Amino acid sequence: MAQATAPCSTEIQSIVRQVIAELRAAAPAANGASAANSAAAAGPAPLAPATVPWTPPAPSAPVAPESFVGRHGIFGSVDEAVRAAQEAFLQLERLGVEGRRKAIAHIRRISIEDAVELGTMEFNETKIGRLPHKIEKLKILGERSPGVEFMRSEVFSGDHGLAVIEHAPFGVIGAITPVTHSLPTITGNAVSMIAGGNTVVVNPHPSGKKVAAEGVRRFNQAIHRDLGIDNLIALIAEPTLESAAELFKHRGVKLICVTGGPAVAKAALESSKRAIVAGPGNPPVVVDETADLDRAARSIIAGAAYDNNLLCIAEKQVFVVSSVFDRMMEAMGRAGAARLNPTQVDALTARAIVWTGEGAHRHQVACKDFIGQDASVLARAAGTGVASEVELLYGETSVDNPFVPVEQMMPFVPFIRCKDADEAIRRAHESEHGFRHTAIIHSHDVRNMTKMGRLLDTTLFVKNGPSTAGLGLGGEGYISFSIATPTGEGVTTPLTFTRQRRCTLVDDLRILGAAE
Ligand code: NAD
Repeated sequence: MAQATAPCSTEIQSIVRQVIAELRAAAPAANGASAANSAAAAGPAPLAPATVPWTPPAPSAPVAPESFVGRHGIFGSVDEAVRAAQEAFLQLERLGVEGRRKAIAHIRRISIEDAVELGTMEFNETKIGRLPHKIEKLKILGERSPGVEFMRSEVFSGDHGLAVIEHAPFGVIGAITPVTHSLPTITGNAVSMIAGGNTVVVNPHPSGKKVAAEGVRRFNQAIHRDLGIDNLIALIAEPTLESAAELFKHRGVKLICVTGGPAVAKAALESSKRAIVAGPGNPPVVVDETADLDRAARSIIAGAAYDNNLLCIAEKQVFVVSSVFDRMMEAMGRAGAARLNPTQVDALTARAIVWTGEGAHRHQVACKDFIGQDASVLARAAGTGVASEVELLYGETSVDNPFVPVEQMMPFVPFIRCKDADEAIRRAHESEHGFRHTAIIHSHDVRNMTKMGRLLDTTLFVKNGPSTAGLGLGGEGYISFSIATPTGEGVTTPLTFTRQRRCTLVDDLRILGAAE
């Protein structure tokens, strides 16, 4: 990522101070769920406050992985990591569900207590996104990621006895994680996978490996101190595509879970192992003539600007029916986004979307220098300037503008004028590429909602709110940063990482049997 685009350290310190002050003010407030519920009623709003008191950490640089390779989850080779995770799996098995609960409690606690420090490390290392959101993502995972409470057995009881369906672990899971949420993905995966009784070996994105290692080290150290088990989460300290391929093939790995873009999703789908694939998205938004335009504008900004549009569920392009198009553009301005004129849109497009690949594989992608950068950086590239507090840029484009089909992951959103809702829904469908990932509609016409829901058939479909509500942020439900789309498991939970086992007891314990 271009060094010049990273915020300077004084900016970072001031953001950290602001976040610390906000968290302190929020500490005695209601728990996450009730805060989020009231937020939902009020429309898009800040996310849930911390539930655990904490002290501000001393600033520290990311720890170089090399300095602690070989313990607390940090390994130099795939084979060593898998062997350690296998040993940890056997130890975890002996501690039962209560052991899993205790291990997860440490991960959740650290994720909340160390959110500022670890979020700052992630921001400094990856140089993408927005610091307050890096911190918030870790905190929310600590509060809302689903744990052992999801592990419910089912029972069938009848004249011929009992059948109990239990959810058993796979063993060691191999996980590949993205740069967009390096430690948050590992944290959510670890909670769900351990709740399901598994252990995990992670091959993180190379550009987020240091914060990944630091988080994993802290989790393992705390679990080891309390339960005497090390390496429930093992991590490859120097991850490469080769180590990812080795993990895919390793005999000790029973299941793969990948979170990332098209290349890794394809690799996982083609692997010989069962894979949970959380692949790319390009979420479209439809705004029809029945929408509350101001609410729609606030929602689009809240979702699309979150962490500078890095979320795979974030609003990426907006299709608006022509009768409300101009009013919608005004509503976006009122809500705080900055509009680019056609010349500025063209200038930004020329710099922020680039060609890659050869021959038949040649296609357009987002330019790395702009992914996850602030709106002010994009504005400069467009030949203009915006105030530092502007979170999102927007502008009218034709449907042929590359920002429409490309997953841009930066805070500029194209708006496309459509004749009517049918055209808007059809164009939204085309722009989603059949990923069946996420879609959003702002409408009070239930027929348009149904039409869009049926045609796009996405894993998340949000109505009248920001995309983040689909992950339970300002909406209902639980959170995970691995949303399994092509393989169909949806927002992953502990049950995603389990096998079904049926235990059948024939006739015994039944009156019929006893009477004979
Ligand atoms: P990326 O695809 O560049 O990298 C993701 C991970 O896959 C990294 O660890 C990378 O090293 C690895 N990888 C890449 N190609 C590989 C290959 N051929 N074989 C093995 N491993 C490979 O993605 P990124 O930039 O880190 O993250 C952004 C992408 O991830 C976006 O497309 C976004 O939509 C997607 N994403 C999806 C979800 C979801 O839950 N569905 C969540 C977050 C991000």
